[in-house]
Amino acid sequence: MTSIVLFGPPGAGKGTQAARISSLTGKPQVSTGDMLRAAVASGSDLGSEAKGYMDAGLLVPDGVIIGLISQRLREPDAESGLLLDGYPRTIAQAEALSEVEDVSMVISIEVPDEAIIERIVGRRMDPHDGTIYHIRFNPPPTEAASRVVQREDDNEETVRNRLSAYHEQTAPLADWYQDRGVLVRIDGDRTIGEVGDAIGSAIASMGSRDV
Ligand code: ADP
Ligand code: ADP
Repeated sequence: MTSIVLFGPPGAGKGTQAARISSLTGKPQVSTGDMLRAAVASGSDLGSEAKGYMDAGLLVPDGVIIGLISQRLREPDAESGLLLDGYPRTIAQAEALSEVEDVSMVISIEVPDEAIIERIVGRRMDPHDGTIYHIRFNPPPTEAASRVVQREDDNEETVRNRLSAYHEQTAPLADWYQDRGVLVRIDGDRTIGEVGDAIGSAIASMGSRDV
């Protein structure tokens, strides 16, 4: 039916906020970054093609990613729409998406570049259940602390490339969606709880409009 897009620079807090938005809206979260990492881990052709781009902090080519999402949208749990985390990231991806799916809301989590590096370098993930932590802002509980892992691409050099890719290729999409009347800007430079509350209010104020 209609999907929601979670939009913002790397490290903005998209993955962190996704579970709450998914339970508010009933739409399953789909992260293209997670899908690509799973493809890399499985050793598939798609994974091998994507890996070089991801390690360098560059966007994976549109053709690869558009195919992946089009396939995902045809699965049964996508019938009432998805919560798209990290897709689309280029105008070409947004145009391709618009041909197969309506987007009712684009939640843009805005965080200044200065805050991004610290967020990304301190990010950790619990391999048991995928929970995202931060060594300073959201430390893992004692029982998870010894098993959390850091993503290979979460180092300062790659982050700088990812930020450049974001500004050049992804940021222009905010205006593209604003022109279509679906962009909601959220100040992401606040605590995790405050950002979540602001997103919750934005979803509630959509009221009876179809989210
Ligand atoms: P994204 O999915 O947009 O790349 P994440 O949700 O993985 O971002 O968050 C990146 C890092 O920043 C994680 O370590 C997360 O714990 C932390 N983080 C997320 N939101 C906030 C926030 N509002 N304040 C401080 N740190 C945050
Ligand atoms: P982050 O939110 O920290 O940037 P993601 O997990 O969303 O991380 O993405 C990791 C990497 O996967 C990106 O740097 C990029 O190489 C690739 N990727 C994810 N989503 C897309 C997309 N929609 N288009 C192109 N490449 C993507």
